Amino acid sequence: MTDRYAVFGNPVEQSKSPTIHAAFAAQTGQTMTYSKQLVALDGFSEAAEAFFAAGGKGLNITVPFKQEAYSFAARLTARARHAGAVNTLALQDDGTILGDNTDGVGMVQDLLENLGWQIRGKKVLVLGAGGAVRGVLEPLLEQLPQHVVIANRTIDKALQLAKGFAEMGYLLGCGFDMLEGQQFDLVINGTSASLAGEVPPLPNDLLTADGHCYDLMYAAQPTPFLVWARQHGARAVSDGLGMLVEQAAESFKLWRGVKPETKLVISELRDNLT
Ligand code: NDP
Repeated sequence: MTDRYAVFGNPVEQSKSPTIHAAFAAQTGQTMTYSKQLVALDGFSEAAEAFFAAGGKGLNITVPFKQEAYSFAARLTARARHAGAVNTLALQDDGTILGDNTDGVGMVQDLLENLGWQIRGKKVLVLGAGGAVRGVLEPLLEQLPQHVVIANRTIDKALQLAKGFAEMGYLLGCGFDMLEGQQFDLVINGTSASLAGEVPPLPNDLLTADGHCYDLMYAAQPTPFLVWARQHGARAVSDGLGMLVEQAAESFKLWRGVKPETKLVISELRDNLT
């Protein structure tokens, strides 16, 4: 039987994962199928159990099931355990299900390899304290930034995250109003504000002269945050399309043992974004 993979989400219609994994499979000569499955909001465990019982080999997990996938996995990678969220499930040889989180490593790979940006020694601001930010903090801190500030609308969530990752580096949590007077070399927008056409309330002089801005969200047009970044003197900006492809490549490697090339896939997706 052909090895089966899928992405579970709700909504999932817009997911680009099937296109990305089909490109990876063709490129690496792997025989596999990859579909998308709309899962009922209260039906994640049941659907995942049914998928693996029917011979499925691996899943990507998207909104809103990443925390349920964390609980579903019998074993976790260290980065998934620290993130408290899982975006990849993989059937192991012993029949157990391993949970991993490839979002953060995907983002770091995009920043360093595709964009050629630097993290080491930089003053980094992360906006948001939701599931995506939980996933990116550990791989980000592993790159040894000078310090990382997490700013969130709900301050308590930023404080909790900063506390949770404190042993990994110099990390502070705060609200947006506490950013006044501070400047950053790299600002990463991990809020979903762009989805609503909004930008978190940020001071005008937030960026250093070498300020770089990255939005986890991606779109055919520059996101509201990236428009803000250009208007406020950012030297370079990027959305998260590269992260999407890089996190998929890490999942593919976990499942198939081979790391696909990503650059061509990113540019093809970019050309077809609507
Ligand atoms: P969550 O729902 O878990 O978290 C949303 C975060 O955004 C919270 O911190 C929330 O603050 C904040 N927020 C929402 N609306 C606003 C607003 N109007 N102003 C300020 N802050 C706001 O979402 P995720 O973490 O899963 O996703 C966040 C973004 O990352 C999404 O745009 C998603 O598309 C993107 N993403 C991209 C990936 C990629 O591969 N490129 C992978 C994963 C996510 P509060 O806590 O106060 O509610």
